[in-house]
Formats: sequence, structure tokens, C-alpha cells
Amino acid sequence: MAGEPQTDCLFCKIVSGDIPATIVRESDTTVAFRDINPQAPTHVLVIPKVHYPDAASLAAAEPQIAADVLREAGAVAADEKVDSTGYRIILNTGSGAGQTVFHAHAHVLGGRGLQWPPG
Ligand code: AMP
Ligand code: ZN
Repeated sequence: MAGEPQTDCLFCKIVSGDIPATIVRESDTTVAFRDINPQAPTHVLVIPKVHYPDAASLAAAEPQIAADVLREAGAVAADEKVDSTGYRIILNTGSGAGQTVFHAHAHVLGGRGLQWPPG
């Protein structure tokens, strides 16, 4: 069923606690944890607890949870004190855009200069 945990999904295993992560925030519907390969001083991933392959499919099926992910991304930025200097929320979608884990997730990057346009 849509949204159900997937046995072969890394981020579902982080939600269930089967794979450890450095969790920085949690809500009823989301978990935020540090990226294992950080690309900036602040690099946190915010994921929904439910499984959808990308942000757009999450938003189509569960708009409130998609909003929760964005709210929590903003809260992470405030917790990490990068909200005043600026930060970026990234939703890589599809392998051609660099998506490697097909469980919806928002990257929160900050704490250094961020170029625009991104690569
Ligand atoms: P993406 O390339 O947008 O799909 O992002 C996936 C992200 O997950 C990458 O930035 C990886 O470094 C990160 N990642 C992969 N495995 C783990 C893990 N076990 N704990 C935390 N972050 C991870
Ligand atoms: Zn999953």
C-alpha cells in the first residue's frame, strides 16, 4: 500500500531504528538526521516516516506531511543557526538529478556560501 514501509529502503530502516542515524529532530510524521557524507557544515536530511519515492509523490498523496517536511526543514535551519545567513532546501528527484535514495527527503544545507545556480 502507498506509504507503507519498504523492506529494501535505507530510510525506512532509519525510521524503524534498524539502521542508526544521528537524529537531530523528530515529529509525529518526520525524522531529521545528519547526512553521512556532509556537503556543508550543516547538512541534515528531513524525511517523512511514510515511504514515498520522492517529494512530488509525497505531496500528491499526503500534502500535510509534505508541509511537515518543509516546516521541519525550517526548524532544523533555526536549530543550527543558519537561518539568518541563508540555507538551501534541496529535493533531488530522479537519478539524473542525483537522487540515490528513493524515499522522499529534503536536504538542508547551510553554514557556507552556496552558489547559484547549483551544479
Ligand atoms: P540523494 O542523493 O538526494 O538521494 O540523497 C541521499 C543522501 O543520503 C546522500 O546525501 C547520502 O550521503 C545520504 N545517506 C546515505 N546513507 C546514509 C545514512 N546511512 N545516514 C545518513 N545519510 C545517508
Ligand atoms: Zn522508505
